[in-house]
Amino acid sequence: MRLAEIIAVGSELLTPFHADTNSLFLTEELNQLGVAVIHKSVVPDDRAALGEAFAQALERADLVIATGGLGPTEDDVTREALAELLGRRLLRDDRVLHQIRDRFARLDRPMTPNNERQALVPEGATVFPNDSGTAPGLWVEARGRAILLLPGPPGEARRIFAEQARPVIERRAGNRRMARRLLRVVGLSESGLDHRVAETYKQYEQISTTILATREGIEIHLTIWSEDAPEAARVLDELSARLVALLGEALVSATGETLDEVVARELSLSGSTVAVAESCTGGIVSARLTSLPGSSLFFRGGAVSYSNPMKTIWAGVPAELIEQHGAVSSEVAIAMAEGVRRSAETTLGLGITGIAGPGGGTPEKPVGTVHIALAGESGAEARPFLFGGDRDRIRHLAAQTALDMLRRRLLRGRNERS
Ligand code: ATP
Ligand code: MG
Repeated sequence: MRLAEIIAVGSELLTPFHADTNSLFLTEELNQLGVAVIHKSVVPDDRAALGEAFAQALERADLVIATGGLGPTEDDVTREALAELLGRRLLRDDRVLHQIRDRFARLDRPMTPNNERQALVPEGATVFPNDSGTAPGLWVEARGRAILLLPGPPGEARRIFAEQARPVIERRAGNRRMARRLLRVVGLSESGLDHRVAETYKQYEQISTTILATREGIEIHLTIWSEDAPEAARVLDELSARLVALLGEALVSATGETLDEVVARELSLSGSTVAVAESCTGGIVSARLTSLPGSSLFFRGGAVSYSNPMKTIWAGVPAELIEQHGAVSSEVAIAMAEGVRRSAETTLGLGITGIAGPGGGTPEKPVGTVHIALAGESGAEARPFLFGGDRDRIRHLAAQTALDMLRRRLLRGRNERS
């Protein structure tokens, strides 16, 4: 059993209001078992559409998993569609019926006749009882393939898969496994990054390398399928180490750790403390610095000094400085960083001021202009940025960049110490 296909069943999944998430954890689990997902589809609660989806999937994959449409109502037709396609009768399974009756009795809820439909099982199927809902999972073998039907609610699907289906698949999956590494990069463009590393990763044909731009930066995914786990780990580590060397400071982590996690770890390890004065980011940096447990070790506080007077009152920025350079300037960013560092008595201070838009831009300071300053024991540095995009993106990039400046400072400090 090497290739799987997933069918997400539910008309609601074809609206803008619901996303298919079941296939994500199923893919994760299957990959761990050495089974690759080669195709996914989202199909409405419709017998003909389902029959067609099952028929196509059975031509491609050794294992077909469908989630959803096992409910009690008329529009749940997954098991009917499969039974019809395979030419199997649907038989009432008395054990399942008892389990459903028991469940209703336990919950002290009346059982309506349509719930009995959920006790219908295609001839020859193995039943995986559902301890957290009514519709059981069903395992059917046909045409040399295996078909697994799971209920739609993610908690139920997950539990039945993990406890009952996974062991069956594992026995048949063979020894091939997927191994992965995830490297995170901040501060390079996607093309700039690829230019830097392509020549190296292309030397490793057995590794599939995917470069993915996300909101949090760029991810480099290294994936390998192999029966030899130690050898797979060795080549992955080899390529990973070569990429690490090429990426220099732009590398956030080679372990999948996020920017926020790395910043938190480096602050803790170095015994640093930090305070933040934020204007255009409105507290995003403080929120991210406090998002992980243990942040009280290094985060002293943050001021959202949004108006000019509050930059003076909370961050100690001299009013004349704002008058002279404007609130959005490197001078004011530095004064914010130093002011907040002084009043919080921290080793590091961050100051962020900018124009998130859509209004408020001028020819000299267009929307997207942001100044970020980092103050430390040996003085302060400020950098000007011009971020593109809408208000949300500009604020996000400003926060992201501020945290990355902090990370780079901590990294240099660590290199100096060692
Ligand atoms: P039930 O016995 O609860 O009726 P069911 O198998 O009929 O089970 P559905 O009615 O299709 O399941 O879906 C139940 C709920 O599960 C839906 O509200 C839907 O939001 C959620 N769900 C269904 N499929 C998915 C999916 N692929 N990803 C995430 N959520 C899903
Ligand atoms: Mg449904």
